[in-house]
Amino acid sequence: MNKEQKTMLLRIIAAAILTVAAALLPTDGVLRFATFAVPYLVVGYDVLWSAIRNIFRGELFDERFLMALATLGAFALGEYPEGVAVMLFYQVGEIFGDIAVDRSRDSIAALMDIRPDHAVVLRNGEELTVPPGEVEPGETLVIRPGERVPLDGEIIEGRTAVDTAALTGESMPVDMEPGDGIISGSVNLTGVIKVRAGSSFAESTVNRILELAENASERKAHVENFIRRFAHWYTPCVVIGAVLLAVLPPLLFSQSWSVWVERALVFLVVSCPCALVVSVPLTFFCGMGGASRAGILIKGANYLEALAGADTVVFDKTGTLTQGRFKVEAIHPEDMTEAGLLDIAAAAESYSTHPVAESIIEAHGGHIDRSRIGEVTELAGRGLAAEIDGQTYYVGNGALMDSVGAKWRDCHLGGTIVHIAEKDLYLGHIVVNDVLKPDAAQAVAELRTLGIKKTVMLTGDAEKNARRVADAVGVDEVRSQLLPEQKVSELEKLLAEGRRVAYVGDGINDAPVLSRADVGIAMGAMGSDAAIESADIVLMDDKTAKLPLAIRISRRTMGIVKQNIVFSLAVKAAILVLGAIGAANMWTAVFGDVGVLIIATANATRAMLAGKK
Ligand code: ADP
Ligand code: MG
Repeated sequence: MNKEQKTMLLRIIAAAILTVAAALLPTDGVLRFATFAVPYLVVGYDVLWSAIRNIFRGELFDERFLMALATLGAFALGEYPEGVAVMLFYQVGEIFGDIAVDRSRDSIAALMDIRPDHAVVLRNGEELTVPPGEVEPGETLVIRPGERVPLDGEIIEGRTAVDTAALTGESMPVDMEPGDGIISGSVNLTGVIKVRAGSSFAESTVNRILELAENASERKAHVENFIRRFAHWYTPCVVIGAVLLAVLPPLLFSQSWSVWVERALVFLVVSCPCALVVSVPLTFFCGMGGASRAGILIKGANYLEALAGADTVVFDKTGTLTQGRFKVEAIHPEDMTEAGLLDIAAAAESYSTHPVAESIIEAHGGHIDRSRIGEVTELAGRGLAAEIDGQTYYVGNGALMDSVGAKWRDCHLGGTIVHIAEKDLYLGHIVVNDVLKPDAAQAVAELRTLGIKKTVMLTGDAEKNARRVADAVGVDEVRSQLLPEQKVSELEKLLAEGRRVAYVGDGINDAPVLSRADVGIAMGAMGSDAAIESADIVLMDDKTAKLPLAIRISRRTMGIVKQNIVFSLAVKAAILVLGAIGAANMWTAVFGDVGVLIIATANATRAMLAGKK
């Protein structure tokens, strides 16, 4: 509780005691008015004051104005206890909503408590402690057990276990050794390590995530915007209803003024839509918090809403359903040695970061003389063209070979076939193979039980290998040999069928598809910058199983949102009707306003638990 909230609480307690005292005192007339006016002013002076200010600003339908009007009306009718009570409970509701919002914000901040506060850097053989922002890429960091990793980088010395729970929700520590990449925001557990910083702090994983989380509340869901528009109309309508209710029966049917004015006051108290205005955004906020605890980063409430409504899931193959870590299985040259073919392939791939390229470079293992290599052009989704010793070589799939007129040969082995040609002269191929993610098949099966109507795999790989992977994972349909722009048009076909499509990719060369889908989900953000940039939802670790979990969290959150909307509106509508026929008094109205607010707020915080099993 902050200072303002504490002061408010004291005012509420003081006013409550004074009200009880006033009710017990045997007073009447002006004295009775005065004994109730004191607690009324103690608890409500700020509401009255801002109501007066709002009149001059022309904001007549502000909730504080309504509360002031309703309570002053009660006083005018001589219903002093009711007047004080409405004001008192209004303030209780306000403070409750306030605290709930603060608490959820705090616990998300705690979940997101991954900001490193310092870095220990080696400069001229000395260890210096500096803010992470002052470390340059390439510098060497020393990280002791218990310390948070300040920047992304590569371990160059030492072995340790690393806790990535704050990033991925995964509680098992990961063992790491020299050569392994380490992600900022994780915690070094057991050994002292030296790490070469790979990027500046501004570009580090931890900083991107924090920026993302901070901006998440700006993207509103449709329901949130709807509620705001609704509140905009609802309040004036109820107020007009109140005026008519107070004026018409006495004028037309010469009924008693005091009876109908009192009924009108009930309307005014119920007219405040704060239960909705507070609880709906709070629910989304808590849902996103619960998700981030499970290592699922949602960039805004609109994306959570879109994911909950998705009925079709489209996957990229490499790095999404497969691990994206290839191994060279066979080398089949035409008229040269295996080593010769591998030499050319490795040289051509030496600047590429594609997983296929990495496997070929690794299989080559030796030194690559980069001075031999001239211009290299990556041909996304097909391979690349590279100049080596002044000659042009093409390395990539069958489509690339066709486009340069090289007569390529297929292979009897399963796997991705990387063809190599010198201009249009076919030199042979290298077979690389990728491993399925262990949880991919189960995740796809689980999507089906969640009611996802169709799963599709899109890939740039050749048909045969694509089929093999698709069958092993169990997706409904597969489209192969696609260039990145063809992936977009395949996706657009699905969208044109009226499907609501979630696209899951690894962010490497599928940014256009990620942004075109109703909701773009990137896998394995730890390491891939493109993923965090272009996706709407980021699954922090490489696990496909996080996808069904993300869908369950989003649906549960939407469910709570709907419960709150229906519950609040139903109670308010009932009290409006009862109030109009005189069956609900001010006390009922107070429940309709504050009670509903408190219940809806408490319900909203349940969304935070959604990440737990
Ligand atoms: P996916 O759609 O499976 O994610 P990509 O779109 O990245 O795959 O690539 C499609 C195909 O293009 C790969 O299967 C591979 O045959 C070929 N390819 C892409 N980049 C390279 C590269 N650097 N070297 C060799 N082949 C490549
Ligand atoms: Mg890919």
